[in-house]
Amino acid sequence: KSQSKSKVPKDGLFPEIIRESYKGSEKLLHKKAVISGGDSGIGQAVAVHFAREGADVAIIYKESDDDAKETQKLVEKEGKTCLLLKGDVSEKKNQKKFLEKIKKEWGTLDILINNAGIQFPKDDIENISDEQILKTFNTNIISMISFTRDSLQLMSEGARIICTTSVTAYRGSNHLIDYSATKGAIATFVRSLATNLAEKKILVNGIAPGPIWTPLVKETFDDLSTFGKDTPLKRAGQPSEVAPAYVFLASKDANYITGEIIHINGGDFVGG
Ligand code: NAD
Repeated sequence: KSQSKSKVPKDGLFPEIIRESYKGSEKLLHKKAVISGGDSGIGQAVAVHFAREGADVAIIYKESDDDAKETQKLVEKEGKTCLLLKGDVSEKKNQKKFLEKIKKEWGTLDILINNAGIQFPKDDIENISDEQILKTFNTNIISMISFTRDSLQLMSEGARIICTTSVTAYRGSNHLIDYSATKGAIATFVRSLATNLAEKKILVNGIAPGPIWTPLVKETFDDLSTFGKDTPLKRAGQPSEVAPAYVFLASKDANYITGEIIHINGGDFVGG
């Protein structure tokens, strides 16, 4: 039986997926959105916010059926549907399978959220294996490019692509070296793709989160006692504080924004 990562937090600090006070206003009514990594953390929060705004979602996830079903339950509570697409999104055969399923179920795709990402525990460069480097690059950026390319067959004028990069793309990180390099590549991908797809009127933007309480950081950081404390706001953020920016970028409110990255990091953050 797969293990649920949502059950990890014991300290009451995370993750807050959506605020009860968040009122949807049908900003994404009738939209269809695919969210990679939608089973957990930021992606889960995006799925639930999108549903509250009127969108149906499909979430791509790798492992935990429990977490995926939890997201599905939360989306259905908002009165929307949630397709579960299980498999490693960095594998070609899965990408093909996911897109076939979306084509069959929806026939079209309005919003692609490229959010799945991995990082290995912090380490010095001497200890980073070739295998780790390849896996991090393949998951975080290489497959993002090919999956985006292949998703375009289902997208038309007005569609949105939003990619999750990171504060580490800009600040670097002295112990998440390969990870930070992939995030820098994502930021450049966003700017480049935005230009390339402008003629088709498909808008491409990114979100660069700073320290956010999610299962990912619980798994890869040794000491979470200072997590986010070096930001001007002196705390880490919640998934519920990141997801509304994805709603904004996916909505008509962002009709004239492309090639941009929104930074959500408590003001600033010197990567550790
Ligand atoms: P998370 O681990 O809680 O969720 C990510 C999910 O992505 C996982 O549950 C997993 O199912 C899915 N995933 C990972 N690799 C996959 C693959 N190959 N195929 C299919 N699914 C896969 O992490 P999170 O913190 O919510 O991270 C989401 C994104 O935000 C990542 O790209 C991460 O790099 C980025 N980010 C997070 C933080 C932070 O502090 N949490 C900061 C900056 C950027």
